[in-house]
Amino acid sequence: MTASPQSPVVYESWGQRVVFGSGTAQDDVAAEVARLGSTRVLLVAAERERSLAERICKNVPVVATFGAVMPHVPGDVAEAVRTAAREHAADLVLSVGGGSTTGTAKAAALTTGLPILAVPTTYAGSEATPVWGLTEVGHKRTGIDPRVLPQVVVYDATLMLSLPTRLSVTSGLNALAHCVDAWWAPRHNPISSALAVEGVRSLASSLPRIVADGQDVHARRDILFGTYLGAVAFAGAGSGLHHKVCHVLGGAYDLEHAALHSVVLPHVVGLNLPAAPGAARQLGAALDDGTDPFGALSDLYSALDPPRSLRDLGLSEREIDRATDLVMAQVPDSNPRRVTHDKMRELLGRACRGDTPVLIPLTNSTDS
Ligand code: NAD
Repeated sequence: MTASPQSPVVYESWGQRVVFGSGTAQDDVAAEVARLGSTRVLLVAAERERSLAERICKNVPVVATFGAVMPHVPGDVAEAVRTAAREHAADLVLSVGGGSTTGTAKAAALTTGLPILAVPTTYAGSEATPVWGLTEVGHKRTGIDPRVLPQVVVYDATLMLSLPTRLSVTSGLNALAHCVDAWWAPRHNPISSALAVEGVRSLASSLPRIVADGQDVHARRDILFGTYLGAVAFAGAGSGLHHKVCHVLGGAYDLEHAALHSVVLPHVVGLNLPAAPGAARQLGAALDDGTDPFGALSDLYSALDPPRSLRDLGLSEREIDRATDLVMAQVPDSNPRRVTHDKMRELLGRACRGDTPVLIPLTNSTDS
């Protein structure tokens, strides 16, 4: 444990049943629905994942399917899924899909209190957090509520075989970001940090394997393990600087969630790592390079070749001043380095242009 003996450690864990499998989703979901005693299931699945979801739910008492899933859960979608749950007298919300689908199920649970069984098909990790998000006229609100934490998660590595390489990589880096941000998030603690180390280890060793072979089920299973550990670490530690930057940019400019995380992460790490020796040690341990963790992260990025520029995702460089103002209002007090307006503007400018991420050395004693 790396916390000083003087500082108390506070860690809140969130109860959840998790089933990991490969090719077993249909049986596992049926068994878990029966275990919960549910007889009226509302299935939430985007049109694209609908046939997959119906296959998984073959032996489940589904009373209705909600397919109008949209990224970032707009308010009218939240209302519609709640209405569907009410009109069909559902006793369980079963989501099959990525973070947008899980988020839609969470919107239903937030006001109805219905339990969720989540079957993730990306590495977003929302299934293991009590965090909800809703969007109203370009503004994304998030909150924490134990009612939205799925009671059960059924992971099946084979459901990820259809993910294209680019989305596999960006979504996997979204999972990596949950781990890394946990080292300096507001409620960072030794337990979340330890989960994050193992999460990074799992993700960094398996993501390059699916770039080489997207059908490698063992690698996909290892990524799911890292995804879960990262999401639990994030749930315990809260949103650090990286998540605040992505939350603000994603909400204000509607940028693709996973790709946005991929672009921003190494820039935030380059800023924070010189002021966070504990995080540097842990990143080094997880990437098997205690001497140059930032170099090891850069090597991982070279191997994965994710998107590098926010401009390519749709952010205009003309927006950098406004984006900086928006982000600056959200910088967590817990951040290991003092973040000035100029530093953030520089960071966002580099991320927007797709400049190579760099370590930004400390300049003096007031820099951290
Ligand atoms: P997504 O759910 O929008 O999915 C992206 C695309 O991938 C969609 O077109 C979807 O149809 C497709 N897809 C999903 N599974 C697939 C599969 N197996 N094969 C092929 N295509 C597939 O994107 P996401 O990155 O998974 O989730 C992003 C959302 O999740 C954001 O709204 C974000 O805020 C939220 N999120 C929330 C939390 C939380 O803790 N609350 C954590 C992470 C992400």
